[in-house]
Amino acid sequence: MTEEREHYEAVVVGCGPGGAAAAARLADHGVETLVLERGVEAGSKNVSGGLIYAEESAPYTIDDLFEGFREEAAERPVTDYQIHNIAGNKVKSYDLTDLHEHDTDWCDAVLRRKMDSRLEARVHEKTSETGGGVLTNVRVNGLLRDDGEIVGVTCDELDPIEADLIVAADGVNSELARDAGLMDWEEPDEWFQGVKAVVDMEPDVIDDRFDIDEDEGAAHLFSGDLFEDVRGGGFLYTNEDSLSIGTVFHLDSLVAEQAEPHELLDALLTHPVMAHWLGDEYDEREYGAKLVPDSKKVAHREPYRDRLVLVGDAAGQMQAQGPIIKGMNHAVTGGALAADAFAITRGNADPEAAGRRYAKLLEESGTMDKLRPRRYDLARTVGERDVVTNAVERVLDSRVGSLALGNPVADRVLKRAYNSPFLVSMIPDTRTGYVTVPAIVGEEHGRTIRWENGVEPPSLEARIGGLTYDTDVGNPHIELLDDSAEASEAAVYACPVSAEDFGGGCYRTEQVQTNGDEETVVSLDTQPCVECGTCAIVADTAWEHPRGGKGVEYREG
Ligand SMILES: Cc1cc2nc3c(=O)[nH]c(=O)nc-3n(C[C@H](O)[C@H](O)[C@H](O)COP(=O)(O)OP(=O)(O)OC[C@H]3O[C@@H](n4cnc5c(N)ncnc54)[C@H](O)[C@@H]3O)c2cc1C
Ligand code: SF4
Repeated sequence: MTEEREHYEAVVVGCGPGGAAAAARLADHGVETLVLERGVEAGSKNVSGGLIYAEESAPYTIDDLFEGFREEAAERPVTDYQIHNIAGNKVKSYDLTDLHEHDTDWCDAVLRRKMDSRLEARVHEKTSETGGGVLTNVRVNGLLRDDGEIVGVTCDELDPIEADLIVAADGVNSELARDAGLMDWEEPDEWFQGVKAVVDMEPDVIDDRFDIDEDEGAAHLFSGDLFEDVRGGGFLYTNEDSLSIGTVFHLDSLVAEQAEPHELLDALLTHPVMAHWLGDEYDEREYGAKLVPDSKKVAHREPYRDRLVLVGDAAGQMQAQGPIIKGMNHAVTGGALAADAFAITRGNADPEAAGRRYAKLLEESGTMDKLRPRRYDLARTVGERDVVTNAVERVLDSRVGSLALGNPVADRVLKRAYNSPFLVSMIPDTRTGYVTVPAIVGEEHGRTIRWENGVEPPSLEARIGGLTYDTDVGNPHIELLDDSAEASEAAVYACPVSAEDFGGGCYRTEQVQTNGDEETVVSLDTQPCVECGTCAIVADTAWEHPRGGKGVEYREG
C-alpha cells in the first residue's frame, strides 16, 4: 500500500532572499507553494554585510518582486563609496563610485532580521493565496526519495512532504545540496568567512560623522597590512541608526595564517582610520558570522537534480567582484528564474525539465557569466601559480616595486584600475592584490592619520554573552568525528566564537597522556555556536543545522 503523503506543487526550503524570491514568483505564476524556514522568524539565522544591489542588467531585482521593498525593508541608500589602502597608520583612499555605479540601478544597506522578516510576511500573504504559506521553526533534514528519485523533503518537525518542485534556498551550509551530491564541503579555498559587528549610533551622529544627509549612506572598504597576511578585507556600511562593520577573508588564508576572525575584526575596529567615525563610545549591538561561497570557483552550472533546484548560496551564486560582494541580488535572480523555469515546464513528465530550463535561463540571462567570469579562469591559471606570485611579490618588495607604484602616474592608473569592473573581476586570489599592493599604495601615497582610536571592542566572552540562544540541550548539531590536532585543530582559531586562549568557545585543545606520550586533542561544545559552517570545512565533523527554532537567534543580522 502506498503511504498517503502531503503534497504541494512546490516546496521552498529557506526564506532568505533566494527563497523569498522563488516563492513570490511561484505564487505570481499561481503555483501552490509551501515555504519551510528553520528560524523562529526569517532573518533570525542570517548575516550579511550587507549591501543589496539592484543591477540594471539583472532579469529580476528585489523591488520588482516586492513593491515598496526599499521603503519597508532597507536602511540607507549608498551615495558615497570608497576604498582605503592601509599601511601602518598611513591611508590612501580612492573613490570607487564608478565601480559601484557600474550596472547599478540602486544599492541599499540592509539588516537581515528586519529585511527577511518583512519579506517573510509578504511571501506568506502571496503563498497563502495559492493554498500554501510559510512555516517557521521547521528544519528540513533531508530529501525524500522514491526509487532513488528525489520527490520531496523530510523534516525534523513534520511528516515527509512530496512536491513537483523542490527549491533548496537553504543558504551556504545547504544540507540539501549536499544530500543531492551537488555540493561538497571539502576545500577551504572555495569559501570566504564573513564576521560582522552591528554598532549602535544615533542617526544624526551618523549624518554628522559621515558627512551625509539622512537619506544618504556611506560604504567604506579596507585592505592592506592591518589584517597581517590574511587575504581579504574589511567593510563599514551605514544603516539608519547603526553601523555594520565587518571582515570577509578567504577561508584557506585564515587557516594558513592561523588567524582568529574576532581579532581581525578588532584590528579594523581599533585602527586609527576608524577613530573619526566611531568616536569614544563604542556600543556593539551584535556579533555574527557566516561562510560565503566564492562563485568564481563553485557556482554550479547545472544546479539541479530530479525535481530539486538550488538557488542562491546553496548553488554557490555569491559573486565577489573585487571589493564588491553580491550574493543577495543573485539569490533573488536565481530564485525568480527557478520559479519561471517551473512555470514554463509545468506539467512536463520529465522530473528534470524545470532544472534544465533553469540552468538555461541562468546562462541566457548572463547571470552565470557574472558568477563565473571566463576571464578569471584565464587569469587564475597564470596568476595563482606560486612561482608567478612569488616573482611578483619579490619585485613589489624591492625598491623597483615602490618606485613603480609610488609615482603620480601610478596613482592615477591605480584609481582607474580599481574602478574597472573588467579588471577587478579577473584579479587572481593571491596576497598581491589584497595585501601587498594596497600596503605599498598606502605607504607611498597615503596620508598619516594621527587620530587616537579609543575603541575597546568587547571580549569574545562578552560577544557570546550578548547573543540569544535556544540551546537544544542534549542534542548537539555538530559531532566531532576526529579529535586529533591534525584533523580538527584549525577550528580552534578559525571558528569565530573560539580562540586559542579562550576556554568558553566552541572549540578548544587540551593535552592528554596516551601510552606515556603527551598528545593534543580537540574538544567541542556547540552551545556558543553561531552556525557559520566553518568547522564543517576545516575540521572533521558531522555537521547539521540545529532543529527548527533552536540555536542562535540574530536580532540584527
Ligand atoms: C559578513 C558577510 C557579508 C556579506 N556581505 C554581502 C553584501 O554586502 N551584499 C550581498 O549581496 N551579499 C553579502 N553577503 C552574502 C549574502 O549574505 C548571501 O549571499 C545571501 O544571504 C544568500 O541568500 P540565500 O537566500 O541564498 O541564503 P540565506 O540568506 O543564507 O538564507 C537561507 C535561509 O534558509 C534557512 N535554512 C537553512 N537551512 C534550512 C533547513 N534545513 N530547513 C529550513 N530552513 C533552512 C535559513 O534559516 C535562512 O533563512 C555577505 C555575507 C556575509 C556572511
Ligand atoms: S562551531 Fe563551527 S559552525 Fe559553530 S560557530 Fe564555530 S566554526 Fe561556526
